[in-house]
Amino acid sequence: MIDLWERALDTLRGRLSTENFETWLAPVRCQGVEDDAVVLRIPNRFYADWISNHYTDLLLEALAEAGGEDGSPQKLRFEVDEALQEQVQAKRTESKPAPRPKARANGGGAPKGPAPFRVSDLNPKYSFDNFVVGPSNQLAHAASVAVASAPGKRYNPLFIYGGVGLGKTHLMNAMGHLILEDEPSATILYLSAERFTNEFIWSLQNHRIDEFRRRYREGCDVLLMDDIQFLAGRDQTQEEFFHTFNALYHSDKQIVVTSDVYPQQIAEMEERLISRFQSGMVADIQAPEVDTRVAILKKKAEAEQIHLTDEVAHFIAQVVKSNVRELEGTLLRLAVKAELLARPIDLDLARDSLKAVLPAPETALTVEDIQRAVCGYFNLKLSELKSKRRHRAVSYPRQVAMYLCRQRLGTSYPELGERFGGKDHTTVMSAVRKINGLLEKEDEKTARAVEAIGRKLGF
Ligand code: ADP
Ligand code: MG
Repeated sequence: MIDLWERALDTLRGRLSTENFETWLAPVRCQGVEDDAVVLRIPNRFYADWISNHYTDLLLEALAEAGGEDGSPQKLRFEVDEALQEQVQAKRTESKPAPRPKARANGGGAPKGPAPFRVSDLNPKYSFDNFVVGPSNQLAHAASVAVASAPGKRYNPLFIYGGVGLGKTHLMNAMGHLILEDEPSATILYLSAERFTNEFIWSLQNHRIDEFRRRYREGCDVLLMDDIQFLAGRDQTQEEFFHTFNALYHSDKQIVVTSDVYPQQIAEMEERLISRFQSGMVADIQAPEVDTRVAILKKKAEAEQIHLTDEVAHFIAQVVKSNVRELEGTLLRLAVKAELLARPIDLDLARDSLKAVLPAPETALTVEDIQRAVCGYFNLKLSELKSKRRHRAVSYPRQVAMYLCRQRLGTSYPELGERFGGKDHTTVMSAVRKINGLLEKEDEKTARAVEAIGRKLGF
């Protein structure tokens, strides 16, 4: 019998990076299909979060492609299986592949194409409550809240653009939830432009276009269309979307569109659609600043009940800069690793896990670079910084330097002690703790020094 899950996995192996595949999907076992859900057994709870956030669509698509006889499953359900956790642990220590039990899911004939008109589930994980607002996303956030509080009244359409993994989909789902909270009977259609395209084509091929149009033009109070750039070059779908847009717009129905670029920059998009997109509110999301990145990590850690120290949060935030999804991924990978190895998430573990993305050693900052920059800022000699002098004029800059080295380079305490003229590691620890404390209390002098030195070093 053909094994549905195995075939889906084969498809996905080619679509994901080896690391992601091996980390997140290889350890998962398929229990079978119950009702419309595929039941997956996972090693621990982190897998549920990660897989549902990142691979739901991919998996469902792959399963649909692999072909289920009685329609494809529409959902994923997770069951934690501790035996799997042990297998993964064993595999890590022996690096021997764990045996793969056969999945029980049925395979069979393969109806091609997507299931029609799939229910558009909002992701319950994406709310305004757990969206961290910072300068990089303030405008998009404010516009989203305004729209969700009075859909169809202001900012119609709302167009949000920004790079991958910066929170567009999150905001869109948050709008959906808030609108439903105020108006539980509202029909909200949330979908990607890709699904819109697939449904449209399917409807044409299966003579269901009237139904399609009723659904999107009449049966819809709020249309949340994610990743509109997918329509690039798809003239017929653009035409259809244009009419959908007009129908909704003229009945004062709210439209929200996201894209990875500014309207004008979407490749091969009809001018009349671009001008529609620009006619309402256009808000951008930029990559978050370091403080926002730290706040996002902390929020995520709290939600996932991961114990994350400030030190590690800052370290991750320094290293992973451009993308929130990556930021969260790093945290979750770290949490999984810590759980598997049964050790705390500390700086050593973080540094070790992030080795691959840390700057190459030749170009990387050294302890001495930091020491020199600190000396430059405080107008000290390097020899003074490393001396035994305890006068505040020397000890304070020394503490700042130790803090920066620990924070940016993750160097161990004993090694830092050594590099600062043979100090005890406990001296370094208390220096780092002290500067951390000052920064937390928003001590202006310290914040300014850390900022300025960081800038000089190109952080
Ligand atoms: P995009 O749609 O822009 O590619 P997503 O909305 O999918 O990005 O966001 C990627 C991940 O990062 C999601 O898990 C989301 O919850 C998280 N995320 C992005 N921005 C924020 C933020 N400001 N606060 C909290 N989480 C965020
Ligand atoms: Mg998105």
